[in-house]
Amino acid sequence: MTEQGTANGQAAPRPAILTVDDDPGVSRAVARDLRRKYGEDHRIVRAESGADGLDALRQMKLRGDLVAVILADYRMPEMNGIEFLERAMDVYPAARRALLTAYADTGAAIDAINVVDLDYYLLKPWDPPEEKLYPVVDSLLDSWRSADHRPVAETKVVGHRWSARSSQVREFLARNQVPYRWYSSDDQEGKRLLEAAGADGMRLPLVITPDGDALVEPSDAELASRVGLATTPSEAFYDLIVVGGGPAGLGAAVYGASEGLRTVLVERTATGGQAGQSSRIENYLGFPDGVSGAQLTDRARRQAAKFGAELLTTREVVGLEVNGSARRVDFGDGTSVGAHTVILATGVTYRQLTVPGIAELTGRGVFYGSALTEATSCADHDIYIVGGANSAGQAAVYLAKGARSVTLLVRGSSLERSMSHYLVQQVAATPRISVRTCTEVAAAHGADHLERLTLRDSRTGATETVDAGWLFVFIGAAPLTEWLDGVVQRDERGFILAGPDLVADGSRPQGWPFDRPPYHLETSVPGVFVAGDVRAESAKRVASAVGEGAMAVMLVHRYLEML
Ligand SMILES: Cc1cc2nc3c(=O)[nH]c(=O)nc-3n(C[C@H](O)[C@H](O)[C@H](O)COP(=O)(O)OP(=O)(O)OC[C@H]3O[C@@H](n4cnc5c(N)ncnc54)[C@H](O)[C@@H]3O)c2cc1C
Repeated sequence: MTEQGTANGQAAPRPAILTVDDDPGVSRAVARDLRRKYGEDHRIVRAESGADGLDALRQMKLRGDLVAVILADYRMPEMNGIEFLERAMDVYPAARRALLTAYADTGAAIDAINVVDLDYYLLKPWDPPEEKLYPVVDSLLDSWRSADHRPVAETKVVGHRWSARSSQVREFLARNQVPYRWYSSDDQEGKRLLEAAGADGMRLPLVITPDGDALVEPSDAELASRVGLATTPSEAFYDLIVVGGGPAGLGAAVYGASEGLRTVLVERTATGGQAGQSSRIENYLGFPDGVSGAQLTDRARRQAAKFGAELLTTREVVGLEVNGSARRVDFGDGTSVGAHTVILATGVTYRQLTVPGIAELTGRGVFYGSALTEATSCADHDIYIVGGANSAGQAAVYLAKGARSVTLLVRGSSLERSMSHYLVQQVAATPRISVRTCTEVAAAHGADHLERLTLRDSRTGATETVDAGWLFVFIGAAPLTEWLDGVVQRDERGFILAGPDLVADGSRPQGWPFDRPPYHLETSVPGVFVAGDVRAESAKRVASAVGEGAMAVMLVHRYLEML
């Protein structure tokens, strides 16, 4: 296959015209004539057999290219023009089709009008092209243009709504602000993409990168590197390592980098943290109409990158070491990176619901905090949400926009005790939301996805089973800080102690080397600071997390001046 009509040999995002002819002389002549009139606005792609032509179409499909017109010679060995066009239709059903025939074959061409929905047949030779070729191609292009063919240059995900890994991949891409288009493996276009990639659909999802590479069931790290997210530090040593990419970590990265510190932020999954999963943050300063977590994260990421901070995703920190004045953080894959200072901003992670059936059905109807990603899939369905705090209330209000009904399952006797007043009012004012207090989930049932829930009345112990396809769980969160065992002091629940909390009884932390007490957000290890939800006694709010990130950077400067 050869491509022509592109400046400097690079593929341009122009619709393609494909010609297939087994006679190289004829093939070149068609391409030459097409290039002369259409080469500026179209890619002219030439193939010399049906098989070659199909390969070219599949590659273009994976890249998300547009194909406007396909011209195929009728008489070709192995696969004739009609057979080729029939198979080409499976890949590009909207492309306009014409058959090149000799006079003797016009009967076959007329039959093909029905078989492959042929738009035209052209008699060879077509000289002069101004009279015989261009008017036909003009009209094919006009008819193709009259339909909607917006280019799909973004990442494509072919999956199934009950495939747990498919929903994790969607969530990962969404949270990393990677634009993608979702195709169900049951739909025609999904099937076409699977076929084009040579995938059987048994292992899902299939992810097709903007470059046209097909990845089957990719890991987060593989995805990150293939969709353009940085995963490895560019240097061995920094002024500041920020661990965690939620509001506190992003805040620290913005202030650190903008104030001249060589800063790297290391995030386990996707930046944004818990806030990234919030449908609408209404109480963050400067956004009177609220802001979605995704928007806030996107802006913060861009801001941090603008100031020169390096942002790494899909890198989990599993260890912290102290060597004199140097601090080192270790990654799960055995590599590490060093710095003068570290800010721990690892936040908290959703608590798991531990009742029979839930673990098996997670990602298959049961979701933790992925209400935003799944919202379109569960439109017009009945949805259950477990939890009585703000995160559950926000999810209920958000999902109620599309769902048939939303039922909030609350263990306590009222919402008022656990949810902000403004959200309680919004829940009450939304007719599609009903609240069941004193109710807990006792079990989840379903073969390959959630089908039923057993609910228990916490006062009487009575149980009832309800049909349910969707359950979102928001039952609080805990810090994941075991990896700091023996290095950084934490309270009995795992939250990191800092500043005044370390010296509550008047004595300095064990092994503390300085005359001064720890700075306000400094941990029991000098030069290692903490910010946001992971700090003991923190406020658990976006604004305070961002504020602590900024304040920790100010203390980093103070620490560095004393070194
Ligand atoms: C659904 C929802 C709605 C909310 N709505 C509001 C609201 O309206 N207003 C408000 O003020 N607050 C709200 N909150 C609370 C707010 O989001 C949090 O207080 C805030 O996100 C805390 O920020 P953080 O950076 O400290 O931690 P987090 O947001 O928890 O971020 C921590 C980050 O660290 C990463 N991480 C953890 N361990 C590691 C490791 N070992 N290595 C690398 N990375 C790691 C995590 O993956 C995560 O991205 C909401 C929370 C939720 C869940």
